[in-house]
Amino acid sequence: MKELQQKVKEEGVVIAGSVLKVDAFLNHQIDAALMKQVAAHFYDYYKNKGVTKILTIEASGIAPSIMAALAFDVPCLFAKKAIPSTLTEAVYETDIHSYTKNRTSHVVVSQKFLSTDDKVLIIDDFLANGEAALGLYDLVKQAGAECVGVGIVIEKSFQQGADRLKNEGLDVLSLCRIASLEGDKVTLVEEE
Ligand code: 5GP
Repeated sequence: MKELQQKVKEEGVVIAGSVLKVDAFLNHQIDAALMKQVAAHFYDYYKNKGVTKILTIEASGIAPSIMAALAFDVPCLFAKKAIPSTLTEAVYETDIHSYTKNRTSHVVVSQKFLSTDDKVLIIDDFLANGEAALGLYDLVKQAGAECVGVGIVIEKSFQQGADRLKNEGLDVLSLCRIASLEGDKVTLVEEE
């Protein structure tokens, strides 16, 4: 996706050699028009899969996911990183290790929002080692639902996430793929 690739190259800031900060348009300030285009690409790719629900994880996955939910005309469900006192019903739960925060979160979704009838599209802002996406896939499997694919805004292709998801048989679409962040410079897969 050209507009996204351009944004990543122009506004992404490399931190500690392997983390990309995209606070200008995705992780802090959000470029809503760009997210609408992101959602349109996800819709175009997965539109014939009978998607009934978008599943993501709070907080950074929510922006692209809510736009995708609008495009597919389905609900957007986000996994919560802490069990709030208001969540009194049964939950599906799993542990997800955060690459950037170096911490493991216990994440939950209410069982009433995922069922065996669901065809779930998982969406996240970044794909690095695949922990977040595989954790969400675990929740889908616990519910007996089907995962029709994983839509990623920015994939760091030099990490193992994409291969791990494909090894699970998941249909992964990444709209911007980064080959390297070496020398504090973003090099896209297409540029190699
Ligand atoms: P994974 O679970 O695939 O290892 O990492 C993906 C998750 O970690 C995403 O949900 C994202 O929030 C965060 N993440 C991983 N790498 C980066 C990065 O380079 N930049 C940002 N902003 N977030 C990242």
